Amino acid sequence: MYVYGPVPSRRLGRSLGVSPIPSKTCSYSCVYCQLGRTTSLEAVRKSCFPKENILKEILQKVLSSEADFITFVGDGEPTLNADLGWLIRQTKKETRLPIAVITNGSLLFKKDVRDDLLSADVVLPTLDAGDQETFKRINRPHKNIDFDIMLQGQIDFRKEFSGKIWLEVMLVKGLNDSIEQLKRIKVAVDKIDPDRIYISVPIRPPAEKWAEIPAPESILEAQEILQGSTSLNMLESGEFGIEEFSDTKQAILEIGSRHPLRKSQAYEIEKRLSETGIVDSMISDGELFEMEYNNETYLMPSHLKHHKNR
Ligand code: SF4
Repeated sequence: MYVYGPVPSRRLGRSLGVSPIPSKTCSYSCVYCQLGRTTSLEAVRKSCFPKENILKEILQKVLSSEADFITFVGDGEPTLNADLGWLIRQTKKETRLPIAVITNGSLLFKKDVRDDLLSADVVLPTLDAGDQETFKRINRPHKNIDFDIMLQGQIDFRKEFSGKIWLEVMLVKGLNDSIEQLKRIKVAVDKIDPDRIYISVPIRPPAEKWAEIPAPESILEAQEILQGSTSLNMLESGEFGIEEFSDTKQAILEIGSRHPLRKSQAYEIEKRLSETGIVDSMISDGELFEMEYNNETYLMPSHLKHHKNR
């Protein structure tokens, strides 16, 4: 299944997610990644799946669900799929929904990647560092990607792209939240000149248990330094699209493998599918494991357990 949701998104409303990339294939292995550690660290693009099958599934899902955006996001970095440009252009031709791409921005130094994203309406790249050392510590990139190359790619893309760029800066305690580091991030952000800046913190269970949410005063300092930014330090609200699922088990395993589910959200899905006791028996049978994080209990499919450093 390549398309999932709609899922509630803090930036995109009801977002119909498209994952054109095999699970946890990425050019980074961020310490805060909610999908766990990267198992396939790549910097070369390739066709991952039959592109016609992905398109067919997108068009079917658009007809059967109400969404605000079609979002190419992936279980990793979506620009690693060499068919991404074709998929965006075809989706654009055949639907009327705006298209967003959530990317780490690391491959924008490649002209073909920049060209592929030109047909999107909104591109949401990430920039968590203002220098090579911090970049390596927080994003743990592929060895062929260094900070200056990555930043220049984002700057070049801004010049070529007429849509909106909504940049996300993820803050991790002790890694990139000092005033000195925030000022360096500000210098880099100004060079990109995005339309919006979002400041995030790891509100969901991260790949590394030591990747923590910064102190509230550090988040406020970041907002002051990154002028005009919006803080996203709250959990998303709203319902997950479950129309295509016939039972709770299928819905929770599918959604939970891409989007960490709070236990309360899993019970809500069970209720909407008019079932009882399924979530609890999945936990006791070992199909789901529980994880405490930031005063919330999350449920994750057991096959993801080895991705998490817990
Ligand atoms: S947070 Fe995004 S860029 Fe970082 S490792 Fe996870 S999928 Fe890759």
